[in-house]
Amino acid sequence: MKKGNLVNVTITASDSEGRGICRIGNFAVFVDESVIGDELLIELTKLNKTYGFGKIINILTPSPHRKAPNCPSFKACGACQLMHIDYDFQLSMKRQVVKDALSKIGGFSNIEVEKTIGMEKPFFYRNKSQFPVCAKKDGFAIGFYQKNSHIAINMESCDVSSPIAMQIANAIRIFMQTHHLKAYNETTHTGLVRHVFVRNTTDENEVMVVLVINGKSLPQSEELVKLLTERFPQIVSIYQNINTKKTNLIMGYENRLLYGKAYLSDTILGKTFHISPVSFYQINHEQTEKLYAKAISLAQISKNDTVFDLYCGIGTITLCLADYAKQVIGVEYVPEAIENAKENAKLNHIDNVSFYAGAAEEIVPKLAKESVKADIVVLDPPRKGAEASLLQTILDMKPKRIVYVSCNPATLARDCKILAESGEYEIKAVQPFDMFCQTSHVETVVLMERQHNHM
Ligand code: SAH
Repeated sequence: MKKGNLVNVTITASDSEGRGICRIGNFAVFVDESVIGDELLIELTKLNKTYGFGKIINILTPSPHRKAPNCPSFKACGACQLMHIDYDFQLSMKRQVVKDALSKIGGFSNIEVEKTIGMEKPFFYRNKSQFPVCAKKDGFAIGFYQKNSHIAINMESCDVSSPIAMQIANAIRIFMQTHHLKAYNETTHTGLVRHVFVRNTTDENEVMVVLVINGKSLPQSEELVKLLTERFPQIVSIYQNINTKKTNLIMGYENRLLYGKAYLSDTILGKTFHISPVSFYQINHEQTEKLYAKAISLAQISKNDTVFDLYCGIGTITLCLADYAKQVIGVEYVPEAIENAKENAKLNHIDNVSFYAGAAEEIVPKLAKESVKADIVVLDPPRKGAEASLLQTILDMKPKRIVYVSCNPATLARDCKILAESGEYEIKAVQPFDMFCQTSHVETVVLMERQHNHM
């Protein structure tokens, strides 16, 4: 087998990035935009010792799970990987990703993984879109990055972003053209406009816009504010974020409010939340409510319980848990998010919560030293998962239950393995959620319970 060879194959499996896998002898070959059941003619594009990559030359017999992608940007755009697959099958693929991670990485082979909970209408769900603005030879582009690249494509529509986000990006594109504003060039680190960030409530009655710039100020900011607020009266807040560093991070440290209020307000499970531009907020509102409700029910909190909500963001899970607990302690390392969390507690008249700004792996051991112990721990870390030292501190606290919310099955499995290896905790429930429909990402809630004989 050589690079450049054309081969007839059948796709028999898929990986955690949504790629189809076929076997050629002992080789596993990964094929973009394929799906289980496809019979294909592929070209081998790269070969390693035991696996390789191929691209589709011809679909000989399409899989029954194939469908035509609706979104005109799908072919070029790197944001969605599964738009060519029928939705029910996307859900079952995600369940399999969670099963595979738990067995291959975690060593949990006989764990029941529930069916992925999906959306009725799995489109236009994103309440936050961050469109890169990129200088190009023939002008500039605003859209998502092209597949495997850091070059934006000019997108005028997107099937997963909220419609208003795309409309605002389109308005800013025209504004930049009229005012000859330069787009950012990552290679030369020149040009002014780097990103357009739009966050909105589901009904789009509140919208926040942040323009990320590589410079101290935007000379035409008054005109921009006027244009945006006249065209989109739903906009309640406009920021300029200053990011003059050569970095992949989208936001810089300085935010200047150009218009309106400092935050966006949204409600989750009947509670109101203020969200600042740098605070994390779940991007799929409908699924977030289902996810939180599940996490709360799995936690089985009673009125005597002290609960930890680690990686708490603006305190969304913390405040939803507070109704059932004696007290809830939220820990989060973005200080602005903790400010929001404290404000949100007041806003909802909740006083049995406290918040700490700092890394969970540093704050939790300190709390433990002061004999503040959790009866139940909820944790929702970023993709890289939790520090092993934090997991050890949690084990030492001997909570009754641990509810782990994760956006990365691989680190979830790794961390559950550490918790289970103590011999004291067992996985009792695994529920995947489709938060990022049409993409290969999957969100999961796992319940681990302390064994009764150790209690
Ligand atoms: N539970 C929240 C936020 C989850 S996202 C919600 O549902 O909205 C993960 C959060 O962890 C982010 O807010 C991020 O800023 C925070 N974070 C990342 N690393 C951290 C660490 N080491 N300690 C505490 N918080 C951290």
